[in-house]
Amino acid sequence: MSDLNPQCQLSDSKDAENFSSQPVQQILSTRDATLGEGLIIRRALPHRERRMIGAWCFLDHFGPIRFKKGEGMNVGPHPHIGLQTFTWVIEGKILHRDSLGNAQTINPGQVNLMTAGKGVVHSEESQLDEYATLHGVQLWIALPDSKRQKDASFTHYTELPHFQQDGLSVTVLAGEFEGKTAPTEVFSPLLGLDIVALEATKARLPLNPAFEYGILVLEDEIDVESETISVGKMIYLGCRREHVSIRAFKGARFILIGGEPFKEEILIWWNYVARTKEEIKQADEQWKNNDKRFSEVQGYQGIRVDSPPIPWK
Ligand code: MN
Repeated sequence: MSDLNPQCQLSDSKDAENFSSQPVQQILSTRDATLGEGLIIRRALPHRERRMIGAWCFLDHFGPIRFKKGEGMNVGPHPHIGLQTFTWVIEGKILHRDSLGNAQTINPGQVNLMTAGKGVVHSEESQLDEYATLHGVQLWIALPDSKRQKDASFTHYTELPHFQQDGLSVTVLAGEFEGKTAPTEVFSPLLGLDIVALEATKARLPLNPAFEYGILVLEDEIDVESETISVGKMIYLGCRREHVSIRAFKGARFILIGGEPFKEEILIWWNYVARTKEEIKQADEQWKNNDKRFSEVQGYQGIRVDSPPIPWK
């Protein structure tokens, strides 16, 4: 590959020898944010000090939380452009409905991947049963310029590559790891792994030096190189690394995301990923005016979500 981001290119063999001594680059805290009707979640990306990791441009961690019917996640119909929403459920279930006519329940171990392209609308609900627990993540992937005007699409993935290694249970959510390739369709070189420690263990995970990486803890705490991080903390590893060392107690869980540094400057506002303010303004006017770009979600009992005022003219 000749067009790697310069920051990830190896300049000489001396650099390669230094991989193992490379410290982590940043330790970032998630911030609390409200999702839909009052569900408090942890938002890891975008972060003031770290906007993206590869094409991953958004990372919410929700739960584990217990709730009764009528509580939990209830996000009414809202639009997206220029991105893929990637929903990974660990516990509980989420009902997704969209303007393409899909109504799909996501169960634990499954991924819903919605490619917004030029425009789509969806709703997300978790309060389906009298008592429930919810735990999962939702990520967004910025679409490259060549794909962001495509028609919207939606795929539900029930089977993902899954294996055990060094006391870890690994699920490949996106991309390829240890010869196992996830079926999830993405449009940039990416990796997403969900990892659970089955016992107290230490492991060295192989990395691609051309990728940058981040690790977010979902349960308990882990050691990444010489740093200990717990739920609510994310480590940014940067690129030019051949591996990362992990130590974990039984039950610790984390996701590792990575990708080639995204070359295009993106602009994120509300549920839109674009390149210019004009594009966002146009999309938002179309949402407000019920333009056919954003058609209806059938079957959702409730009202659609209004966008906040755009903070620029
Ligand atoms: Mn959404």
